[in-house]
Amino acid sequence: MALRSAQEYRQSVAAQKPRLFLGGKKVEDVSSDPVMKSVVESTAKIYELAKDPRYTDIMTVRSHLTGEIINRNLHVAGSIDDLEKRAEMALLTSQKLGTCNYRCVGADCLNALASVTWEMDKTKGSDYHGRFNRFLTYLQENDLACSGAVTDAKGDRNKKMSEVDPDMYVHMSDMNDDGIFVRGAKLHQSGATVANETIVIPGGFLRPGEEKFAIAFAVANSAPGITYIAQHNAFSAERESCEDIYELGNPVFGQRETCMMIFEDVFIPWERVFLCGETEYTGKLISRFAKMHRMNCGGACKVGFADIIIGASVLASEYSGTDKVPHIREMLTEMVRHSEAAHACTIAAAVKGNEEPAGSGVFLPNDMFGNVAKITTAYGFWQIMALAGDIGGGLIVTAPSLKDLKNEETRPYVEKYLAAAESAEKRLRISKVLQNWTAGLHGPGTWHGAGSPQAQKIALYRAANLEEKKAIAREIAGIED
Ligand SMILES: Cc1cc2nc3c(=O)[nH]c(=O)nc-3n(C[C@H](O)[C@H](O)[C@H](O)COP(=O)(O)OP(=O)(O)OC[C@H]3O[C@@H](n4cnc5c(N)ncnc54)[C@H](O)[C@@H]3O)c2cc1C
Repeated sequence: MALRSAQEYRQSVAAQKPRLFLGGKKVEDVSSDPVMKSVVESTAKIYELAKDPRYTDIMTVRSHLTGEIINRNLHVAGSIDDLEKRAEMALLTSQKLGTCNYRCVGADCLNALASVTWEMDKTKGSDYHGRFNRFLTYLQENDLACSGAVTDAKGDRNKKMSEVDPDMYVHMSDMNDDGIFVRGAKLHQSGATVANETIVIPGGFLRPGEEKFAIAFAVANSAPGITYIAQHNAFSAERESCEDIYELGNPVFGQRETCMMIFEDVFIPWERVFLCGETEYTGKLISRFAKMHRMNCGGACKVGFADIIIGASVLASEYSGTDKVPHIREMLTEMVRHSEAAHACTIAAAVKGNEEPAGSGVFLPNDMFGNVAKITTAYGFWQIMALAGDIGGGLIVTAPSLKDLKNEETRPYVEKYLAAAESAEKRLRISKVLQNWTAGLHGPGTWHGAGSPQAQKIALYRAANLEEKKAIAREIAGIED
């Protein structure tokens, strides 16, 4: 069963019983809850795409462990070609979903763990890599959906880790011969509520004395002691109150749904523990995760989103009759420039990637270009949204409901006064799509997802090799030191 069908995935989720809350209420059935259903359907779509012959090359790959064809979300990149395809998958899934590929963070955690556990075994003689490969084989053989948990609650940022309640960072609260117990909370967890498994890694560099926080492990959805509290906002409320989802800006797949994931002394058997106390490897783990994730989530994924926004903007201008106006074309060109700059950096990050560490068989993207991809996206995406808001006009935020086209009293007015070069219905539908992007959650989501830009600036400064640039400038200036 190396590739499950969307229906098999849905059935596996229906069998899970997470302790899950949404908008102050307990969710008993994720498949029928109007908000949670969008996360199930998005994840199911990833399974569907993997079975679609048009996308075989992007969505699937042969496993280096089992020799079977598997979903690329469970693959460890073993070449530059793999890195390029990984980025292409992020782009494709964003175009198809208009929301998160909820298996993306998990995929990037798996790659970082493959690299770091290999290095640990080589230098320390541990069996982390063996364990990791056995677990990855289990994931691949059962084609399980994996989310990735990195971001801790952290608490007051003025204080050091040792000064805040330890629960602000996921940590080991106890251990015995069979495994470890973990406590704490991870925030902003994309798709964890409907994943089959979650891969948990530390959120940052740790120092000696912080061993109990230096843990990486896998945990099954609904494991005893886990509570999920889902995000809730105006878009959730709109979805909950909607009789016909086709009223919504992204009808089937919805917003990027995240949750708080709380661990209360959750038991993790040793076979699922991939780091336990080795603080010296936490920096490598988080930075290798960041390399993968900034190329994929920070760069390629948002290029796919931008394709939707640009396409919707062109349609909005055609429907209103402004498509031949010079400054509208200029704005569309500007949107393409922002998006394709991020796209180019993403491709460069893949093409300039390399095996890390040498001999591990794991390929990671180029750090410099991955960070530039994410930061270019972060700044460019606000611009793309602003330009889409300009092109779409006020209707993006003032449009009546599609229900007013069904009500016999209002229909003639809406049909008459909102028609332009195309029908009122087409204009309303595309305005709803643009509302979802320009007046929705995607600005801050894109800014902070894959790390807030300050983190990329720090990484860029470190990667920039300023000494080499100084030498170049000295040579030009004829300065000899
Ligand atoms: C839509 C979305 C999906 C996500 N999905 C996932 C997921 O699936 N898994 C996961 O693990 N994470 C996920 N994240 C989390 C994401 O990685 C974080 O939001 C990001 O790393 C920023 O962390 P934060 O939200 O805690 O922001 P904060 O750390 O609170 O940052 C807010 C601001 O404060 C600044 N700041 C914070 N701390 C300091 C400090 N000590 N010194 C100076 N400045 C500081 C930051 O630079 C930033 O400007 C997701 C986020 C979003 C928005």
